[in-house]
Amino acid sequence: MPELKRFQHYIDGRFEDAAAHFESLDPATGAPWALMPAASAQDVDRAVRAADAALRAPAWAGLTATARGKLLSRLGDLLAEAAPRLATLETRDTGKIIRETGGQIAYIAEYFRFYGGLADKVMGLHVPVDKPEMEVTLRREPVGVVAAMVPWNSQLFLAAVKLGPALAAGCTIVLKAAEDGAAPLLEFARVVHEAGFPPGVVNIITGTGAQCGQALTTHPLVARIAFTGGPETARHIVRNSAANLAATTLELGGKSPVLAFADADPDNVVSAVIAGIFAASGQSCVAGSRLLVQRPLLPALLERLKARAEQIVIGNPADAATQMGPLATARQRERALALIKDSQDQGAVLITGGDVPAGFEAGFYLRPTILLCDTPKPPCWGEEFFAPVLSVMAFDTEDEALALANDSKFALASGVFTQNLARAHRLARAIRAGVVWVNTYRVISPLVPFGGYKESGLGREGGVESILDYTRTKSVWINLSDAPLPDPFVMR
Ligand code: NAD
Repeated sequence: MPELKRFQHYIDGRFEDAAAHFESLDPATGAPWALMPAASAQDVDRAVRAADAALRAPAWAGLTATARGKLLSRLGDLLAEAAPRLATLETRDTGKIIRETGGQIAYIAEYFRFYGGLADKVMGLHVPVDKPEMEVTLRREPVGVVAAMVPWNSQLFLAAVKLGPALAAGCTIVLKAAEDGAAPLLEFARVVHEAGFPPGVVNIITGTGAQCGQALTTHPLVARIAFTGGPETARHIVRNSAANLAATTLELGGKSPVLAFADADPDNVVSAVIAGIFAASGQSCVAGSRLLVQRPLLPALLERLKARAEQIVIGNPADAATQMGPLATARQRERALALIKDSQDQGAVLITGGDVPAGFEAGFYLRPTILLCDTPKPPCWGEEFFAPVLSVMAFDTEDEALALANDSKFALASGVFTQNLARAHRLARAIRAGVVWVNTYRVISPLVPFGGYKESGLGREGGVESILDYTRTKSVWINLSDAPLPDPFVMR
């Protein structure tokens, strides 16, 4: 067997071997290809202490906000250069197709450039206080050490929306890569190192949630937790944060509805739905996994979606011709197959897919799957698959579509396809979700905040406002008067 590639942790500016490693499997073949370092509670403690020391060290705390911004912009430039190398690693470790990883990583550079530019635009305030002898100013200070955790899909992107604002605000960070697909983030540490951040400002480790994640989120020196993952883990994190009372943002799962009205452009609906659910093999938090179709459009649309899904080129994710690769883990595929079966048992009709494509049994592949539901009862309508599985239901009226769209424990993203401007605006107001895309789907930008309602999360990432979440306000009172202080037993 060929020797497995060995990855290292990045702690306090040094690349380190861990005492223990675990194997990472290539999702296209199911075979081990790399050894990942497993951070122990002691490794986590060293990383957090390094971040805490860096917070006050002159090499970081002494930098102007402008200088911090320049470092971030440089990180963006170096990331753009490293994109092909990192994309190859991400494809190998997660099975995400090379067409997608290459473009996505190059675009992530824009997030670092955006937050680099924002670093010196976070201003304090002068307060015209109701006491004439007092001068009051508000300072925006970095909140402290950030513990960031990401899941395996889009690790670099999900890390960038935490690292960018945290570093721009002057925080330091310990970033835990997911135990599945950690390679691109561990390799990204070399780009961070080359950019010239002082030791301890950025630390990148990986390990299991139970050991590494738990130790990180309960650490007493952590002041802020930024988490992306599933709602059950989020509940652990919130409980963990009782230990350090760290402020927490949560970016969680989704079951995003796409509403297609009879007046919509059918070509656009097909393209958006296919991209929304089958890109990244459905392992996207914003996957448009519930399609609501106005009844007159249903037969023709379903036929076209079935034909298009069956034409998707399944293959080796490293091949540029491949349009859909495997799922990241065997566990994910088994869960999806079980949910599909349960859904059929509860009345959902299989339109296409639902099984492993012939010739791809060794890897973690699943055919693009479409299920038609009569009612919201089958689990495929309510549960997040995180797999290429689309559930479709017909509706008659706008009110009915809206009620079905909002009837979910999740509320992350949504799509509306209609030519009726007033309806588009009505639904943009009425849909309860963090994002509404009208006549488009799955578009992102560093300028636009992102996040969910309900069990899809708490707080926003991206955009200008997220930088403030990495700061806290200090109120400074200066007495301008030379007069003696008055009676100590009267509060003024
Ligand atoms: P997960 O919750 O199992 O794992 C996420 C991270 O949390 C991993 O790094 C894991 O090791 C860590 N973790 C696990 N247990 C922990 C604990 N007790 N303490 C601290 N850390 C712990 O997530 P997953 O199932 O691997 O990822 C898929 C989920 O992520 C889906 O629900 C998906 O929708 C969601 N997601 C959301 C967004 C978003 O922006 N809203 C983006 C991508 C993925």
